[in-house]
Amino acid sequence: MGGVTIAFHGAAGTVTGSCFEIRGAGKTILVDCGMFQGTRSLEKLNYERLPFDPRELDAIILTHAHLDHSGRLPKLYAERCKAPCFCTRATADILKPLLQDSAKLQAASAERRNRRADRAGLPRFSPLYGGPDITALYRKIRTAEYCEQMDLGNRVSIRFWDARHIVGSASAEITVAGQRILVSGDIGSGASVPCPDVELGGYDHIICESTYGDRDREDILISDRREALARYVEETISNGGNLLIPAFAVERTQVILEDLSALFDSRRLSPVNVFLDAPLAQKVTEAILHYRNSGLDVMKRRNIRFIQSVNESKRLNRMTGIVIVAGSGMCEGGRIRHHLVRNLPDRRARILFTGFQAAGTLGSVLRDGAEAVRISGNDVVVNARITSLDGYSNHADRSGLLHWVRDRSPVTGTLFLVHGEASSLKSLAGEMSAAGIAPDVAIPALGETWNLEPARAASRLRSARPDAEKLVASRDWTSRLAALRASMEHRIRSLESDRDREKMLEALKRALDERV
Ligand SMILES: [Zn+2]
Repeated sequence: MGGVTIAFHGAAGTVTGSCFEIRGAGKTILVDCGMFQGTRSLEKLNYERLPFDPRELDAIILTHAHLDHSGRLPKLYAERCKAPCFCTRATADILKPLLQDSAKLQAASAERRNRRADRAGLPRFSPLYGGPDITALYRKIRTAEYCEQMDLGNRVSIRFWDARHIVGSASAEITVAGQRILVSGDIGSGASVPCPDVELGGYDHIICESTYGDRDREDILISDRREALARYVEETISNGGNLLIPAFAVERTQVILEDLSALFDSRRLSPVNVFLDAPLAQKVTEAILHYRNSGLDVMKRRNIRFIQSVNESKRLNRMTGIVIVAGSGMCEGGRIRHHLVRNLPDRRARILFTGFQAAGTLGSVLRDGAEAVRISGNDVVVNARITSLDGYSNHADRSGLLHWVRDRSPVTGTLFLVHGEASSLKSLAGEMSAAGIAPDVAIPALGETWNLEPARAASRLRSARPDAEKLVASRDWTSRLAALRASMEHRIRSLESDRDREKMLEALKRALDERV
């Protein structure tokens, strides 16, 4: 049969950068190649040399279009990967404008960073990939239906299962050297469509996501969610402020637009101006709405406008009483950042989070109540109201994940928990073990390689990269420095008198002069 191994190149001990390499029966298969998002240390990994040779890959499997699963795929083709990339038709349709959008934003951000780098005499920075690399990837895209078995030769095959996460999302089943292995991808809630004539359960090993592994969420009716959204829109606009909704480009943005559309249709809300601000938002939205088929015609509404050019986007800075929906969802990039710079100091404004905020991201810092933040070199005081609205999540919660694995039992080897932060992973591992769902539960660390055997617990072959623990920490020194810088001026200014300010500055200077 020969040995089978799995290497965890991403989403190990963290929620982003999904990338697993499975080798066996003379084939090398990569499942996902997503972007790392979070602290500066984690994001730097996107620009590191890949820990494998893309030219040696025989197949790539993409579970879904979200950038933390797909965002580095063009980089593989920039490095002369020749392998086919398998995904569902919907994923392929949605991903193309999304990657083009990401390439544009990366180019704009590289230009900004390089202006600063040139001034400071620091090395220049280049984007991860450009348009030609996306074209190279698309030449190799092979679309597949759910349940269809695709043979890769050497009795290695793959099959997609419906994952109920977003349009086109899939879990990937890989049969290699007689072992049946399942990689969950991201899992949504609700029952997935079964595959006729194929048994769902019975795996040697399962690799399962754990985003919400430590919490159960209350089910919220769509009508209640829309009512809550309506109240935030009304209240913010009547105060003369702007409502900013940082949103993931895929599906979250469209669901929010559908909710707003329904509120306008039912006249619960008067038709306030809504701007969807991302270079290719219109294309991405069209592709997704085509598959969502909700019956709500978001594209034809006169008060929902799609902003494409940078100048149009900047013009929004002069407007008040509007709703701006923009990416990225965790505020790590994209046009939401300049809207935050403009709106965070405004007491009338509100920032409404509707999705998961990974540790270390600007979104999580804001959600956790920072008084001031640093955005693209600007110290920005936070006066706007910060709110989270539940009810939009498309991730299974703790009990959903338990059910998902139980439905696929028996797992005779190891259940690997990935794609979660430390607390989620630990808590879910405890629950899974206590429930006796799998005989062996493991939490792999970044860079680890494991040996997989049929119906036996996996064993670690190669240990994690030495900096793994530091990399996945929720805060690194750069985020601490940014937080300190951002809050310092605010705190000094808010002291009682100039005398107090002078004293504080003296004390700070003394502290800096002291040896650590
Ligand atoms: Zn996802």
